[in-house]
Amino acid sequence: MFSYLMEKILKFGGTSCGSVVSIQSVISIIESNFKAQTKFAVVFSAMSGVTNQLLEAGNLASKRKNIDNSIIEDIENRHFEIIKHFIPVTGQSQVIAQIRTLINELRDVLKGISLIKEISPKTSDLLVSFGERLSTQLIFSVLQQKGLPVEYVDSRILVKTNRNFGKSEVLFSETNPLIQSYFKDNSVKICLITGFIGSDNNGDTTTLGRGGSDYTASVFGAALDVREIEIWTDVDGMMTSDPRKVSAAFTIPSISYAEAMELTHFGAKVIYPPSLQPAFAKNIPIRVLNTFNATFKGTVISKESTLSPYIITGISSIDHLSLVNLQGSGMIGVAGVSAKLFTVLAREKISVILISQASSEHSICFAIEPQVSEKVKAILHREFSAEIESGDIEGIDIQNDLSVIAVVGEGMRKHTGVSGKLFSVLGKNGINIVATAQGSSELNISVVIEQKDLSKALNVIHETFFFSQLKTLHLFLVGTGLIGKTLLAQLIGQERYLAKYKGLKIKLVGMANSRKQYINESGIDLKKAIEILDSKGSEHDLTSFVADLKQLNLPNSIFADCTASKDIYQFYLGLFHANVSVVTPNNVANSAPYALCAEFHQTDAAKGQNLLYETDVGAGLLVIHTLQGVV
Ligand code: ADP
Ligand code: ASP
Ligand code: MG
Repeated sequence: MFSYLMEKILKFGGTSCGSVVSIQSVISIIESNFKAQTKFAVVFSAMSGVTNQLLEAGNLASKRKNIDNSIIEDIENRHFEIIKHFIPVTGQSQVIAQIRTLINELRDVLKGISLIKEISPKTSDLLVSFGERLSTQLIFSVLQQKGLPVEYVDSRILVKTNRNFGKSEVLFSETNPLIQSYFKDNSVKICLITGFIGSDNNGDTTTLGRGGSDYTASVFGAALDVREIEIWTDVDGMMTSDPRKVSAAFTIPSISYAEAMELTHFGAKVIYPPSLQPAFAKNIPIRVLNTFNATFKGTVISKESTLSPYIITGISSIDHLSLVNLQGSGMIGVAGVSAKLFTVLAREKISVILISQASSEHSICFAIEPQVSEKVKAILHREFSAEIESGDIEGIDIQNDLSVIAVVGEGMRKHTGVSGKLFSVLGKNGINIVATAQGSSELNISVVIEQKDLSKALNVIHETFFFSQLKTLHLFLVGTGLIGKTLLAQLIGQERYLAKYKGLKIKLVGMANSRKQYINESGIDLKKAIEILDSKGSEHDLTSFVADLKQLNLPNSIFADCTASKDIYQFYLGLFHANVSVVTPNNVANSAPYALCAEFHQTDAAKGQNLLYETDVGAGLLVIHTLQGVV
């Protein structure tokens, strides 16, 4: 049988190293691997938030003469808190002294920055390296004190990179032999490795890019040909979407490297995209696991995924991007323009997030990070000055405040109609598609939309493709008289029926009556709704209520007008334009002037929203039936 020099690499992210509670879980996971006699090594990130704090401290130091002590003290205290919790009093002073030595070194670097009032990428890398050095040193001391045979490994001695500070590339031909020979000599110890950092051939500290500790784990795993790489984080694996943005997201049990690459390229931060490559090249599975739910199986990323019951595998997003559009009649059929364009961008190290299929032949459209949009504009004006002067290029437009959503899955190759479904659900929800792109591998369809629509778009797309999940209707109820109260009672009574047989969850998010109004995006308890409105509501002002409702921009929003007010119908048109359906037994609106009615119905047809009128206004009214008709 093949005997592994090393069986597994475990990597704990910042979220797993951030607090006493999380470090307790990290210790348990390491101890159970040790007890199982697994040969393993562990990579650590900095404690959560520390890399950002270090960057901020560096920035402040470069602007002021004195360094900002509060940030350093905060970092120091967070590390001391762990020491005080895990290390017996008698052993604390030695560990505190080790951490202090590093902190003093860090202060010296900041002092240097403040003296020269400048922070170069090289100095910035040295500065942030303290995050991983501190956290790894700290956990080393805690585990050593527990009697585990641990060894602290500063990855700068093993991971060799080029000098592209801030995002250096690993030099595998130098790194792999260094890692292999180190582990031959140290195979009995549990090596605790600093993630994220490396060094160049001058010995200067480099970093592998933000989120780069995942990459460190993959580099070590591939060099040592391990059986598995485990990425321990704060969620239950790789999920169908970012759970912070889509509450209905759920774990993907198995996913291919190719799918994972697409999802991470388009913003699924759970893994740093380059990390997949070394593992993929050696066909080493990566398992994504939750430090806070350690027995859960998580996600395995490998060559082939088991067949998903859904057409797609996941959805991800990049929240901020800009779109550059180059247009001009002189560009039709002129292949040279795009060749020149992408050569220039590559030369200037501008990374292009996507190239869009332009609707007309005479334009080229591509997405970039917003931070570089001004730079790109200047470069293009300079490089294409001749074409602009001759009129071959008529304009270079840059559109900001955009996001991209990528819908990813191997299953898309076998199913037609994914894009149709995608565009139709976005259209139905009034979400304007600025540009689209489809990967040639048919693994990914991306849509560029306005940033304000991002959360809504992610949620409706998720609902559409992962149909076993409940579809959520967001209800704004106006009027708490007999009809409103009856509706609330019916919603309570039918909650289970609607979920089970109609796949619907009706979430009450806003309420108003003639005295008060209240909105809560997280949902209002139906059983206590009237009391909540009374106690928490602000003064009635329907104009602001409707404005807030529109501002929230929630998917599948419904405005239930349970009043008999003559004035309320004035809001209906605005609601339609904001893609909100209206359900009402209020016959004033439907008997509103003819022109207004005609306009309702035009809007209705054009945008896929509904005006549903329930005439059965008796005490047992059936607004619920009408609500179902909305979807
Ligand atoms: P770590 O500190 O462990 O490296 P990160 O913050 O870098 O953790 O990555 C974990 C986070 O990635 C999660 O908390 C989650 O919000 C985010 N994330 C984005 N997309 C996804 C996804 N598709 N699946 C899981 N998590 C995701
Ligand atoms: N600490 C680094 C960062 O915040 C690397 C990592 O967390 O993976 O980017
Ligand atoms: Mg990370």
